[in-house]
Amino acid sequence: MKTKALLFALFFALLFIGCKSTEPKKANQLNSVSTSNNITIDEVQLLNNIKILASDSLEGRGFSKPGNYKAQQLIANEFKRLQLATVLENGYIQEFTTTYKGVRRQRMFPVKGKDKNDTNVPDTTVVGGNVIGMIKGKSDNVIVITGHHDHLGIRNGKIYNGADDDASGTAAVITIADYFKDKTPNHTLVFATVDAEEAGMHGSAYLVKNFPLGKENIVLNVNMDMIAHNDKNELYACGLFHYPQLKEPLTKVKSSIDLLSGHDNPNDKTMQNWTNSSDHRSFHKEKIPFIYFGVEDHKDYHKDTDTFENINQEFYVEAVKLIIQSIENYDTFLKTN
Ligand SMILES: [Zn+2]
Repeated sequence: MKTKALLFALFFALLFIGCKSTEPKKANQLNSVSTSNNITIDEVQLLNNIKILASDSLEGRGFSKPGNYKAQQLIANEFKRLQLATVLENGYIQEFTTTYKGVRRQRMFPVKGKDKNDTNVPDTTVVGGNVIGMIKGKSDNVIVITGHHDHLGIRNGKIYNGADDDASGTAAVITIADYFKDKTPNHTLVFATVDAEEAGMHGSAYLVKNFPLGKENIVLNVNMDMIAHNDKNELYACGLFHYPQLKEPLTKVKSSIDLLSGHDNPNDKTMQNWTNSSDHRSFHKEKIPFIYFGVEDHKDYHKDTDTFENINQEFYVEAVKLIIQSIENYDTFLKTN
């Protein structure tokens, strides 16, 4: 964590090299700060997609709710537009079921007039869906790129739009697929927007257990959850404590965003540990290396104010470019067989 003394030192360092374009690195900064990189993306499409996913018409994309199914269709249509290959027998959507019992059932799908011990709360089985597409690479080794399309839905009559959480990661998955669609990467790239993250990470758990190309072929998960909202121009790459071999490719990233490492060391009490806080957990559990990109929690986190209007659009576009560079670097760096 930064200290005031460090900030003070940085301030004076900046005074003396004020006209230089490279800023001094922060303690846990990975990348070199640069205003230029050679990544070109369809920024209009990216912002349009996050805006639609976070719009009131999708009603907060609550797990197993109509707005969530609409979101799945919308993402599948985008995958089709990009002509991504399918890995499933019947299109882009991988359906799965989840059964809720007792207290959890009541929390997710409240029934009126429940008794004290939830004994009159019936079990409920609901259907979820991950949306999966692929770009075939030179090898069968797979990099899986994920974001979760579900959010909190409607609560107490309010729509929780979840623009940053995680329409940002979902729209990024589509844009990253668009970026790679006319290239032949070394690794096969699987793009998956997963369901039911907010409801217990069921979608990613199902995806890993039932991975259509065989989970033994997965060499890396790149997960994005909340990458569009930060006022300090900072993005975290979490996971290096567990997988230090993944550090080097990130040091070659050029971005105006400060890419920081951390939030993954259980012994570091100064920071929250994010190792299990999003869908990368499902990969990590199977000892599949992951890198998770995300921002610190902000004032709109899990509130009905997490709307398109409250994201940092420039930061978001730059974050997606940074993540694309990271994926390109991993595609070169990680050996295929
Ligand atoms: Zn999330």
